[in-house]
This record gives sequence, C-alpha cells and structure tokens, in this order.
Amino acid sequence: MQEQKIAYIDLSSGHIQKQPIPEKMRRMYLGGRGIDVYLMYNHIPPGSDPMGPENVLTFSAGLLGGTLAPSSGRCHIGAKSPLTGFIGSSNMGGFFAPELRFAGFDHLVIKGKAEKPVYLWVHDGDIEIRDAAHLWGKDTFETPAIIRKGHQDDEIKVACIGLAGENLVRYACVLGGLKNAAGRTGMGCVMGSKKLKAIAVRGTQDLGISYTKEAMGYLEHIMGLLRNSPAMKEFSRLGTPAWHDTSDMIGRVRNRNFQRNQVPDGGSLYAENMLKFSIGMAACFGCPVHCRHRYMVPEGPDKGKYMEGPEWSTLAALTAEVDCKRMEVALVGNYLVNKYGVDSLELGSMVSWAIELYEKGIIDDRVTDGLKLEWGNEQVLYEMVHRIAKRQGLGDILAEGPLRAIEKLGEKSRYYNVHIKGMSCLHTDERATPSHSLGIAVATRGADHLRNRPGLDAHLLPPEIRDKLFGFPVPEMNAYEGSGRLIRWHELLYAIPDALGTCKFYPLFMSPSSIGYEDYCKLVHYIAGLDLSPSGMMEIAERICTLERMFNNREGAKRKDDTLPERYFVEPTPLGPPGFKDRTIDREKFEGLLDEYYEVYGWDRNGVPKSETLVRLGLDQEPSHII
Ligand code: SF4
Repeated sequence: MQEQKIAYIDLSSGHIQKQPIPEKMRRMYLGGRGIDVYLMYNHIPPGSDPMGPENVLTFSAGLLGGTLAPSSGRCHIGAKSPLTGFIGSSNMGGFFAPELRFAGFDHLVIKGKAEKPVYLWVHDGDIEIRDAAHLWGKDTFETPAIIRKGHQDDEIKVACIGLAGENLVRYACVLGGLKNAAGRTGMGCVMGSKKLKAIAVRGTQDLGISYTKEAMGYLEHIMGLLRNSPAMKEFSRLGTPAWHDTSDMIGRVRNRNFQRNQVPDGGSLYAENMLKFSIGMAACFGCPVHCRHRYMVPEGPDKGKYMEGPEWSTLAALTAEVDCKRMEVALVGNYLVNKYGVDSLELGSMVSWAIELYEKGIIDDRVTDGLKLEWGNEQVLYEMVHRIAKRQGLGDILAEGPLRAIEKLGEKSRYYNVHIKGMSCLHTDERATPSHSLGIAVATRGADHLRNRPGLDAHLLPPEIRDKLFGFPVPEMNAYEGSGRLIRWHELLYAIPDALGTCKFYPLFMSPSSIGYEDYCKLVHYIAGLDLSPSGMMEIAERICTLERMFNNREGAKRKDDTLPERYFVEPTPLGPPGFKDRTIDREKFEGLLDEYYEVYGWDRNGVPKSETLVRLGLDQEPSHII
C-alpha cells in the first residue's frame, strides 16, 4: 500500500511539516482514532485551554480509508474537548476522509491559531493556508459551494464549520457534507477558536492495494454477509430511525428531559412514517448499507430545500426529548442544526433541560426574554436552535454546555441536567439496562452510545449461542453481573472500525452474522499488507482505549467521573413493559460493575491503568514523541 503522510500545520506561524507514518505506529494503533489519540497524548500539553492555541486538532482517515473495504469513508476528528475538558473525539461519514487519502495524507495535526479566518487547501501532496474572509459568516451549505466555485472543481470535498463554530458554541460540530456531521465533543468549536473555517481536499493519488485479487475475492464474502444481515436490510430501508421504534416500545427513550422513558402517543415518530417524506436513500463512500434518507424540507421558511437524514439520535433529540410528536419537526430541525453546524444531541438535551427548569419555576421569563418554554412547542425548539447558534440570551447560556450552564442558572438547576463528564446524555434511557448505563458512564468522551453500547443481539440470542460468540457468559438485558466484561468487549470492538476508518454500523455488535476480528485482520492483510492476528488486533483496541483513559486521567479524571446522573439512581422509570418499568440503577451494584470493568482492563480501583498493564501494552514510555 502506498505510504501515506502526517502533516503538522501551525496556524500561528504558517509552518507546515510532512512526515511518513512509521510502520511501528500502524502496528500499535492502525490509524484513524488510534493514531489520533497517540498524537493528542503527545502533542496537547496537559492542562491546555481547549480554545487556546496550544490545543491540537487532528483530522484523520483510517488505515483502510478510501479503499474497497466497505464503508471506508469515515473521518475521525480529535482535540481536547471544550465541552468536557477531557478527550474530544468525533467521527463523520461521507467522502472527506477518502479524498484526504487521495491527496496523500492520513492525518492532519493542526496547531496554533490564525490571526484572521483561514481555510486549508490540501491537494495532491501540497497544503496551503488560505484567506477565508469571504467564507466567514457563511453556513455549512454555502461554504463548500463557494470553495468549489473558487477552485472551479466540483469534486473538492470540504469539512467546515457554520455559525455555531464561529460563535464558539461549545458543542459546535464539523460538517463534511449535508448530513455528515462530526457532532460530539465540540470539534467545530475548536476549529472556530483557531479561526479555521474549513479544510478543502482534492487528490488523484493511487492508494495501492497490497493483494488486489485476494482483496476482491474477500470483499465478495463480506458483501454477502452484509447483504444477508437482517439488521442491514432494515437499515437500508428505514435508516437508523429503525432503532427508535424498538427503543420506545420497551421504554428506553428519553421524553420531557428525563421525566418519562417512552413517548406517549408518539407513534408518528416511528421509522415507517419517514417513508412518506423520503425520496430515496443516500450512502457514504463505498457503503452498501445506505442508511440515510434523502428528503425535501416539508414546511417552514426552508420548505423545499434538499436535505439528508435525520439519523436516530437527531430524530429523538429534536422530537422525543422536547415532546414534539410530528416527524416534520425532526426534518425541519435536522436541516437547521446541520446548517448552523451544531450537535443535535447536545442541543436537544440542553433545550429539554431548560424547558423542565422553566416548568419547575427554576428559570422564568426574565431568563428566557419572555419566551414561554413549553413541551411540544415546535416554535420554541426552532427559536432555541437559532438563539443557541447565535449565542443570544438564554441561547448564550445553553451554548456553554452542561457544566458552565449549571453554574450560570444556579444550584437548583444541577439535579435536572442529565450529563456525564460534561456531555449531555443522549435521548435514550438506560435505567432498565445496567450494561448500557455502565457504558455511558465509563465512555471516555462523556455520555456516549457509540463507544461501547451492546447491540440487542448481545442479550436476545439464545444463551448458548451468545456465550460462544462473546467467549464469556453474557448477562441478561436487565442483569448487572458480567456487564463490566461485556462493555469492555464492545469498547474494544468499536475502536477497530474507528481506527480503520470504516463504519461501525456493520461489525459484529450489530448482528452475529456480520463481521468480526478475523474479517478485519483479513481486510487489513489484503488491502494494507499488514499481518495481524485477531488477538493482536484486540490488543491494539485495548491500547487505544487505555491511552484515551490516560489522556483523561492526565486532565484530572477520577473514578467519580465514571458515574451516572443522580436521576438514574433515584427516579424509577414510570413507563414501559415489565422489566423496564419502575427501574432505577442500584448504586451499590453499579459500583460493583465499575470494579469489574476496571479489573478486566487491568486498571486500579480509581480507573488508573496499573504499571504492568502499561508495560504489556507498550504504553509505559508515553509520551514517547515518535510522531
Ligand atoms: S451505514 Fe450509514 S453511516 Fe455507515 S457508512 Fe453507510 S451510509 Fe454512512
């Protein structure tokens, strides 16, 4: 496979340096999120201001990015998070990462801070820092169009920020296409703080495949697995909103902030109802699943404009959370958040929190500038999207994210904010599923469903099959014991596609008939020429997750940060079928799960990796400054 490079770009000095990626780094971290965490641990000084010039922003393609590996279009973006103060890590699909590789680069490491707005022009081995005065103030749809027109090349791929990023909303995201958002942990805010409006990439370089014939043959096998997977077929038809239906039916959807765990009379939000708006499905680079709807905005000032999505999280965050029950609201809201470049999950949670505070009299019209914050009021939702992106009034407070907004709105508001490590919990309710609750509590980037969440298959398969599949006894869905091991297993598996630059919707956790470590090893061998065993690949995943943990520990994370919001422990779920209703998380048993989770990783009771663990993973010399 052709040698790819890392580029270090200092926006303060204008200095750009390019360096090959040593094979040792590939063997230890693969690429993507893996090499990014190494770069972050080595280049971000401990205690840095996330919005200061010392913070480092990484953009990366994975080891298999842009190749014939299925769904190899994922881009990882990392930095210290302005939302949490811990590791920032986000991922987007689309076509940006493959183009970055075609231009000769696997990782961009962006340091410093420009004096005035700039964009990066990355093309066939060259990188230029260009003036972006004409782009500042433009939204995420206008920006790529202006760049492409300026370069007279419609094939340029652009990652950019919108007004939310420019205004330093702490959960601003990066858009790499209409619906390709790196949403979580505020990477768009870091771009805004560096005055970096966009990165434009274009390349024509050949990636080279190590064993083309064998790779093609193996790809046939992988495609067969995906085509025959019932889960994949459902996503191809309904997109990720298909998850909403089952989650709501069993009482796992957050409604009215955290007051209910089902949406009463919310059937119009079920995935089948999206079909009447859908004009087809769209896919990321090389993806046979095509999980996103294409549609026209159905109403409001932007009626008739083209858009894609919404995926499940956005659907629920902009409807179930704030108790809006029309699919049209999700479609309009999805358009707005993408246009502004703001994380829909964080925004939905912050707005629903504010509505509950208003309902309980903790904030009033003086704080809202007269806006009546009501459940199910669509206009309130849209108005708050505008105010947050523009940092107006209450929007300015909510734009700060949970930690700082609590300080501003007062101690009484604290209990009602449902966040972990400073990142809002998403729109799901984990009170009845201990393994899922442990997963969001320990995820390194804050409350997170995309780091370790077991698919339902983990629990619903016949015990003898699932135990064989996972290699250890898998707990029942409502049980505690064994959840620590289960979460670690998933955490490791999730890290691999993030490092390879492939989509995590299709590995084993989604369906037992989908792909696992052996398949990944073969893909890496045939495409990148790297020989790894399944256990070796699992060790790489362990190294990635452990180094992320070390990053957070260095920034002051402790065991107390691996916990759930108080409401999980004291408020029983009011709705749902037997086994899901009247459930809280047992505090003592939860602590036991945490012990189990730390132990299987080889970390001590404070979540600090033991010295023998560091030696075993080759992390005892970090930061080692190899790259
Ligand atoms: S499954 Fe969906 S998110 Fe994943 S690569 Fe395919 S289209 Fe993109």
